[in-house]
Amino acid sequence: MPAISRGACRKCERSFAKSQMTRHLKSCLGSSGKERKLLILVELPRSPYWVYLTAPNTVKLSAIDGVLRDLWLDCCGHLSSFSSQDTDYLDDPEGFGFGGTRERSMNVSLKRAVGNGTLRYEYDFGSTTQLALRVMDENVIGLGSGIKVVARNDAPDIACSKCGGVATELLFDDWEPIAYCDTCLGSVGEDGETYTLPVVNSPRMGVCAYSGPSIEP
Ligand SMILES: [Zn+2]
Ligand SMILES: [Zn+2]
Ligand SMILES: [Zn+2]
Repeated sequence: MPAISRGACRKCERSFAKSQMTRHLKSCLGSSGKERKLLILVELPRSPYWVYLTAPNTVKLSAIDGVLRDLWLDCCGHLSSFSSQDTDYLDDPEGFGFGGTRERSMNVSLKRAVGNGTLRYEYDFGSTTQLALRVMDENVIGLGSGIKVVARNDAPDIACSKCGGVATELLFDDWEPIAYCDTCLGSVGEDGETYTLPVVNSPRMGVCAYSGPSIEP
Protein backbone atom coordinates (compact mmCIF):
# COMPACT_ATOMS: atom_id res chain seq x y z
CA MET A 1 0.00 0.00 0.00
CA PRO A 2 1.35 3.48 -0.84
CA ALA A 3 2.21 5.76 2.06
CA ILE A 4 0.49 8.70 0.37
CA SER A 5 -2.84 8.15 -1.30
CA ARG A 6 -3.50 10.51 -4.19
CA GLY A 7 -6.45 11.28 -6.39
CA ALA A 8 -7.57 13.78 -9.01
CA CYS A 9 -10.06 16.61 -8.60
CA ARG A 10 -12.84 16.01 -11.12
CA LYS A 11 -13.25 19.72 -11.78
CA CYS A 12 -9.67 20.80 -12.64
CA GLU A 13 -8.21 17.28 -13.08
CA ARG A 14 -5.16 18.11 -10.96
CA SER A 15 -3.76 15.41 -8.67
CA PHE A 16 -3.50 15.94 -4.91
CA ALA A 17 -2.55 13.95 -1.84
CA LYS A 18 -5.59 13.09 0.21
CA SER A 19 -4.35 15.33 3.04
CA GLN A 20 -4.62 18.35 0.70
CA MET A 21 -7.85 17.42 -1.01
CA THR A 22 -10.38 18.98 1.38
CA ARG A 23 -8.69 22.36 1.17
CA HIS A 24 -8.33 22.09 -2.59
CA LEU A 25 -11.96 21.13 -3.21
CA LYS A 26 -13.27 23.95 -1.03
CA SER A 27 -11.46 26.52 -3.15
CA CYS A 28 -11.76 24.77 -6.53
CA LEU A 29 -15.49 24.04 -6.23
CA GLY A 30 -16.15 27.49 -4.81
CA SER A 31 -18.95 28.53 -2.50
CA SER A 32 -22.42 29.66 -3.27
CA GLY A 33 -25.11 31.55 -1.40
CA LYS A 34 -27.75 29.89 -3.53
CA GLU A 35 -26.85 26.29 -4.14
CA ARG A 36 -25.46 25.23 -0.75
CA LYS A 37 -24.31 21.72 -1.61
CA LEU A 38 -22.68 19.47 0.96
CA LEU A 39 -19.09 18.29 0.49
CA ILE A 40 -18.89 14.79 1.98
CA LEU A 41 -15.83 12.62 2.63
CA VAL A 42 -16.34 8.87 2.86
CA GLU A 43 -13.31 6.73 3.67
CA LEU A 44 -12.09 3.41 4.94
CA PRO A 45 -9.88 4.70 7.78
CA ARG A 46 -6.16 3.83 7.56
CA SER A 47 -6.46 2.70 3.96
CA PRO A 48 -5.95 4.21 0.50
CA TYR A 49 -9.70 4.23 -0.18
CA TRP A 50 -11.64 7.51 -0.04
CA VAL A 51 -14.16 9.49 -2.04
CA TYR A 52 -15.48 13.03 -1.91
CA LEU A 53 -19.09 13.56 -2.94
CA THR A 54 -21.17 16.67 -3.42
CA ALA A 55 -24.83 16.30 -2.58
CA PRO A 56 -27.91 18.48 -2.10
CA ASN A 57 -28.29 20.00 1.35
CA THR A 58 -31.39 17.83 1.86
CA VAL A 59 -29.79 14.50 0.82
CA LYS A 60 -31.04 11.47 2.73
CA LEU A 61 -28.96 8.66 4.19
CA SER A 62 -30.80 6.17 1.96
CA ALA A 63 -29.50 8.00 -1.15
CA ILE A 64 -25.91 7.95 0.12
CA ASP A 65 -26.32 4.24 0.89
CA GLY A 66 -27.36 3.60 -2.72
CA VAL A 67 -24.38 5.52 -4.10
CA LEU A 68 -21.87 3.69 -1.87
CA ARG A 69 -23.29 0.31 -2.91
CA ASP A 70 -22.96 1.13 -6.61
CA LEU A 71 -19.56 2.75 -6.28
CA TRP A 72 -17.77 0.43 -3.90
CA LEU A 73 -19.65 -2.28 -2.09
CA ASP A 74 -22.55 -4.27 -3.40
CA CYS A 75 -21.75 -7.96 -3.77
CA CYS A 76 -24.92 -9.82 -2.73
CA GLY A 77 -27.35 -7.16 -1.51
CA HIS A 78 -26.32 -7.35 2.16
CA LEU A 79 -27.88 -5.14 4.83
CA SER A 80 -26.26 -1.85 5.77
CA SER A 81 -26.50 0.84 8.45
CA PHE A 82 -25.32 4.30 9.43
CA SER A 83 -24.54 4.96 13.11
CA SER A 84 -23.97 8.09 15.17
CA GLN A 85 -23.12 8.16 18.89
CA ASP A 86 -26.59 7.14 20.01
CA THR A 87 -28.58 6.16 16.93
CA ASP A 88 -28.46 3.44 14.27
CA TYR A 89 -30.10 4.20 10.93
CA LEU A 90 -31.36 1.11 9.13
CA ASP A 91 -33.48 0.14 6.13
CA ASP A 92 -36.00 -1.53 8.34
CA PRO A 93 -35.74 -0.28 11.94
CA GLU A 94 -37.52 -1.95 14.82
CA GLY A 95 -37.16 0.95 17.23
CA PHE A 96 -34.77 -0.45 19.83
CA GLY A 97 -31.16 -1.32 19.05
CA PHE A 98 -28.53 -3.19 20.99
CA GLY A 99 -26.45 -1.49 23.65
CA GLY A 100 -28.82 1.38 24.34
CA THR A 101 -28.78 2.90 20.85
CA ARG A 102 -31.98 3.95 19.13
CA GLU A 103 -32.94 2.61 15.74
CA ARG A 104 -34.28 4.94 13.10
CA SER A 105 -35.02 4.73 9.39
CA MET A 106 -32.37 5.65 6.81
CA ASN A 107 -35.03 7.87 5.31
CA VAL A 108 -33.68 10.92 7.20
CA SER A 109 -31.51 13.80 6.14
CA LEU A 110 -27.77 13.30 6.35
CA LYS A 111 -27.31 16.73 7.91
CA ARG A 112 -29.67 15.90 10.75
CA ALA A 113 -28.05 12.52 11.39
CA VAL A 114 -24.41 13.61 11.23
CA GLY A 115 -24.57 16.94 13.11
CA ASN A 116 -20.99 18.14 13.51
CA GLY A 117 -19.62 14.66 13.93
CA THR A 118 -18.83 11.48 12.03
CA LEU A 119 -21.19 8.74 10.95
CA ARG A 120 -20.06 5.15 10.84
CA TYR A 121 -21.35 3.21 7.85
CA GLU A 122 -21.42 -0.57 7.75
CA TYR A 123 -22.15 -2.74 4.74
CA ASP A 124 -22.79 -6.44 5.46
CA PHE A 125 -23.10 -7.37 9.13
CA GLY A 126 -21.11 -10.61 8.54
CA SER A 127 -17.95 -9.74 6.55
CA THR A 128 -18.38 -6.09 7.39
CA THR A 129 -16.88 -3.19 5.46
CA GLN A 130 -16.87 -0.27 7.90
CA LEU A 131 -16.55 3.25 6.51
CA ALA A 132 -16.52 6.71 8.08
CA LEU A 133 -18.46 9.67 6.71
CA ARG A 134 -18.06 13.37 7.47
CA VAL A 135 -19.47 16.61 6.07
CA MET A 136 -16.45 18.82 5.24
CA ASP A 137 -18.36 21.87 3.97
CA GLU A 138 -22.00 22.88 3.63
CA ASN A 139 -21.76 25.60 1.03
CA VAL A 140 -19.98 24.42 -2.12
CA ILE A 141 -21.01 24.37 -5.77
CA GLY A 142 -21.48 20.77 -6.86
CA LEU A 143 -20.58 19.21 -10.21
CA GLY A 144 -24.18 18.83 -11.38
CA SER A 145 -27.46 18.00 -9.70
CA GLY A 146 -27.94 15.11 -7.30
CA ILE A 147 -25.00 13.27 -5.73
CA LYS A 148 -21.71 13.49 -7.67
CA VAL A 149 -18.18 12.17 -7.19
CA VAL A 150 -15.80 15.16 -7.11
CA ALA A 151 -12.62 13.23 -6.21
CA ARG A 152 -11.64 9.68 -5.35
CA ASN A 153 -8.43 7.79 -4.68
CA ASP A 154 -6.34 6.54 -7.58
CA ALA A 155 -6.30 2.75 -7.72
CA PRO A 156 -3.48 1.55 -5.42
CA ASP A 157 -0.61 -0.31 -7.08
CA ILE A 158 -0.96 -3.98 -6.24
CA ALA A 159 1.91 -6.11 -7.52
CA CYS A 160 1.77 -9.64 -8.86
CA SER A 161 3.40 -11.86 -6.22
CA LYS A 162 5.29 -13.79 -8.90
CA CYS A 163 6.54 -11.30 -11.52
CA GLY A 164 5.98 -7.95 -9.81
CA GLY A 165 3.75 -6.71 -12.66
CA VAL A 166 0.29 -5.22 -12.24
CA ALA A 167 -1.96 -7.66 -10.39
CA THR A 168 -5.45 -8.27 -11.75
CA GLU A 169 -6.70 -11.16 -9.61
CA LEU A 170 -6.52 -12.32 -6.01
CA LEU A 171 -6.23 -16.07 -5.61
CA PHE A 172 -7.60 -17.32 -2.28
CA ASP A 173 -5.99 -20.42 -0.86
CA ASP A 174 -6.97 -21.17 2.77
CA TRP A 175 -8.60 -17.70 2.77
CA GLU A 176 -5.23 -15.98 2.28
CA PRO A 177 -5.28 -13.79 -0.83
CA ILE A 178 -2.29 -13.89 -3.18
CA ALA A 179 -2.15 -11.30 -5.97
CA TYR A 180 -1.34 -12.37 -9.56
CA CYS A 181 -1.35 -10.88 -13.03
CA ASP A 182 -3.37 -12.74 -15.70
CA THR A 183 -0.28 -14.48 -17.13
CA CYS A 184 1.04 -15.75 -13.80
CA LEU A 185 -2.42 -16.80 -12.62
CA GLY A 186 -2.67 -18.95 -15.76
CA SER A 187 0.61 -20.68 -14.91
CA VAL A 188 -0.35 -21.23 -11.25
CA GLY A 189 -3.76 -22.60 -12.16
CA GLU A 190 -6.82 -22.94 -9.96
CA ASP A 191 -8.18 -26.07 -8.37
CA GLY A 192 -11.19 -27.01 -6.28
CA GLU A 193 -9.63 -25.61 -3.09
CA THR A 194 -9.09 -22.12 -4.43
CA TYR A 195 -11.10 -19.26 -5.89
CA THR A 196 -10.33 -15.86 -7.34
CA LEU A 197 -11.69 -12.34 -7.03
CA PRO A 198 -10.64 -9.44 -9.24
CA VAL A 199 -8.43 -6.58 -8.12
CA VAL A 200 -10.76 -3.59 -7.96
CA ASN A 201 -10.43 -0.02 -6.65
CA SER A 202 -12.68 -0.53 -3.65
CA PRO A 203 -12.44 -0.91 0.13
CA ARG A 204 -14.36 -4.19 -0.35
CA MET A 205 -11.76 -5.75 -2.66
CA GLY A 206 -11.32 -9.42 -1.82
CA VAL A 207 -14.28 -9.49 0.60
CA CYS A 208 -17.25 -11.86 0.14
CA ALA A 209 -17.93 -12.01 -3.61
CA TYR A 210 -17.17 -8.38 -4.43
CA SER A 211 -16.00 -7.98 -8.01
CA GLY A 212 -17.22 -4.51 -9.04
CA PRO A 213 -18.09 -2.85 -11.31
CA SER A 214 -17.74 0.62 -9.84
CA ILE A 215 -20.72 2.65 -11.01
CA GLU A 216 -20.53 6.38 -10.29
CA PRO A 217 -23.70 8.41 -9.85
ZN1 LIG B 1 -9.79 21.15 -8.66
ZN1 LIG C 1 -21.64 -10.62 -0.37
ZN1 LIG D 1 2.73 -11.89 -12.81
